[in-house]
Amino acid sequence: MYKTKAYSASSATSPLASATIPRRDPTERDVQIEILYCGICHSDLHSVRNEWSEFMATNYPIVPGHEIVGRVTKVGSAVSKYKPGDLAAVGCLVDSDRTCPQCKAGMENFCPNMTLTFNSPDKHKTAPVTYGGYSASIVVDEHFVLRVPSNLNLAGTAPLLCAGITTYSPMRHWNVTEGKKVGVVGLGGLGHMGVKFARAFGAHVVVFTTSPGKTQDAMRLGAHEVVMSRNADEMKKHAGSFDFILDTVSAGHDIDPLINLLRIDGNLTLVGAPPKPLAVSAFGLIVGRRSLSGSNIGGIAETQEMLDFCGRHNITADVEVIPIQKVNEAYERLLKSDVKYRFCIDMASLKSE
Ligand SMILES: [Zn+2]
Ligand SMILES: [Zn+2]
Repeated sequence: MYKTKAYSASSATSPLASATIPRRDPTERDVQIEILYCGICHSDLHSVRNEWSEFMATNYPIVPGHEIVGRVTKVGSAVSKYKPGDLAAVGCLVDSDRTCPQCKAGMENFCPNMTLTFNSPDKHKTAPVTYGGYSASIVVDEHFVLRVPSNLNLAGTAPLLCAGITTYSPMRHWNVTEGKKVGVVGLGGLGHMGVKFARAFGAHVVVFTTSPGKTQDAMRLGAHEVVMSRNADEMKKHAGSFDFILDTVSAGHDIDPLINLLRIDGNLTLVGAPPKPLAVSAFGLIVGRRSLSGSNIGGIAETQEMLDFCGRHNITADVEVIPIQKVNEAYERLLKSDVKYRFCIDMASLKSE
């Protein structure tokens, strides 16, 4: 066991503050990574403040962060894919049972026994729970470590590990390809990645937003059209025309008008998580054999596929890089959606703690 610097919160009402945490010495299948950048995901904030206590209560102290990019510093004797000096990334998962049907199918993200990067029971007993990426280093089983294409900006790569795969995976699943008409609802951390991916897949991309001020930025990110979702006339023009719509909105909103935009067999996938149930009219689904579904990150192989795709198409997230000392301030700004489009912590700032 060794000690490493981190930022942790000691209760639901405490700010994140400098701390020292234990990490295990790499076992034979482990990769030790010096963390260079860690993105800030909204679920970090939910967990720190114990806002998901009903299904995933937070254990304190918590070290959040699951959008990790760094450099390999040490590998175990059985590690074959990585060597010291390599770039490496870690996303939302650091382990799973590897024996269930989902794991065998490469969908570790649906394993009933997966170990999340933070706030999951630590199988290695280094600490009561796993500690995430707001830290100087992390030790992860090789299977859950991802390769990072060398051409990508590293700060912009970190958010690909959650915001990126969360939007990439459903587009692959629902076969977003050249010539398809794709909608992206909401232009935040997830939405801006959705626009980039849909465009790179060759789709005709339409952004739905409630803020006229976002039009120009949506076009810059790759949208062909921007529709004000509260303007019924504008919405009507697109009725029955979409193959796929990705809904990234995490606040309560009316989804029937979106379902009505789908063509026959079209799909609306939710990746935002509104706190209250959404109302759905059965008619909207019945008349066009349309479907409504959800999606949650992606498996390890697909996450690697996404990173490689980003390398080929030079796709990264638009980030505002901050020192870790500004993390509490960043959380307050996140609550106001005051970021374009993802905060990313420069972990070099942790050295001065
Ligand atoms: Zn996340
Ligand atoms: Zn499993």
